[in-house]
Amino acid sequence: MTITKEAVLAALSKVQEPELHQDLVTLNMIRNLEIAGDKVSFTVMLTTPACPLRGRIDKEVREAVMTVPGVKTIEVKMDSDVPNDGRMRGLVNMPIRNAIAVGSGKGGVGKSTVSVNIAVALAQSGARVGLMDADIYGPNTPTMLGVDKLPPPNGQRLVPADAYGIKMVSMGLLVKPGQPLIWRGPMLNSAIRQFLGDVDWGELDYLIIDLPPGTGDAALSLAQALPLSGAVIVTLPQLVSLEDASRGLNMFKQLEVPILGIVENMSYLDLPDGTRMDIFGSGGGEELASATETTFLGKIPIDQNIRIGGDTGKPIVVSHPESAVAKSLQEISQKIAAKVSVAAMTASNALPINIVE
Ligand code: ADP
Repeated sequence: MTITKEAVLAALSKVQEPELHQDLVTLNMIRNLEIAGDKVSFTVMLTTPACPLRGRIDKEVREAVMTVPGVKTIEVKMDSDVPNDGRMRGLVNMPIRNAIAVGSGKGGVGKSTVSVNIAVALAQSGARVGLMDADIYGPNTPTMLGVDKLPPPNGQRLVPADAYGIKMVSMGLLVKPGQPLIWRGPMLNSAIRQFLGDVDWGELDYLIIDLPPGTGDAALSLAQALPLSGAVIVTLPQLVSLEDASRGLNMFKQLEVPILGIVENMSYLDLPDGTRMDIFGSGGGEELASATETTFLGKIPIDQNIRIGGDTGKPIVVSHPESAVAKSLQEISQKIAAKVSVAAMTASNALPINIVE
């Protein structure tokens, strides 16, 4: 019996993309379909290499194609093409497909830790990722990534440093050590615009921006300066931190930046005797997410390896990729990537997946 492409595509059109709720054929996600005797091979073009449902899609396409009479072998390749959020980033003037801000109501809650680890986790999955440390009050991502200087500039443009597969620039690398970072009003605005506009990022799937904490001028100017695909808010589980976080959330809402979700950091500490201690209370992040109708992206426990990794320039997703903390950071990065893709794909101006032929 001859297997036809039409029969295979008809079978594949019964498989839904679980988050976009449309079938893979309509979404133009099936590429390079080949039939050789009783063997069918094709590529599934995902909307992010960090797709959390990759395994499920793989299983469902195989099951669907197996129903086509005559098929004996199936070869499925997974590839990805991250959709562009459709926002014009004139100031940056670079092909950055999605820009994701990470904010927090106050400092010290782990905003930079989350930014660094989700950036590296996305790069580990195969995405092209940039990290802009715009936390002018505490630019500590250079320490967290073991970077102490930028490469020589390319003409007028800053060249990002390469660390664990991501491109990184930090305000901390632009000022002399020990020089206080005091920026006010117009000076702050022009510094930010210059910083945003003068980096040679090249093409990126995701630019992660570590914002200054709070809802002051610096956070506001930055969030306004660059069209953002969305924002992630980091909080601790305790009440005071949640109140700060909800102010941060409101700032983004007022700026009409979509909230991608809330991350609760330092959620608990697992003790060697197997008990769990809620040092900063419990459940606050989830409560805030449900009260504000935003997504709860996940909890990150307290783990001294996070702090050690931060101090020694080796993010935990690199130093202990199998640990519970690294796993939760990887899952959070996947959820963020998936949400950004769904938003880009459902935006009225988006194409049904970038056509690459
Ligand atoms: P922020 O950017 O919000 O100011 P940081 O990411 O710099 O916060 O984190 C503050 C400190 O807490 C750093 O030393 C960091 O290594 C540590 N830290 C952050 N999250 C955790 C965690 N889950 N467990 C242990 N230490 C953490």
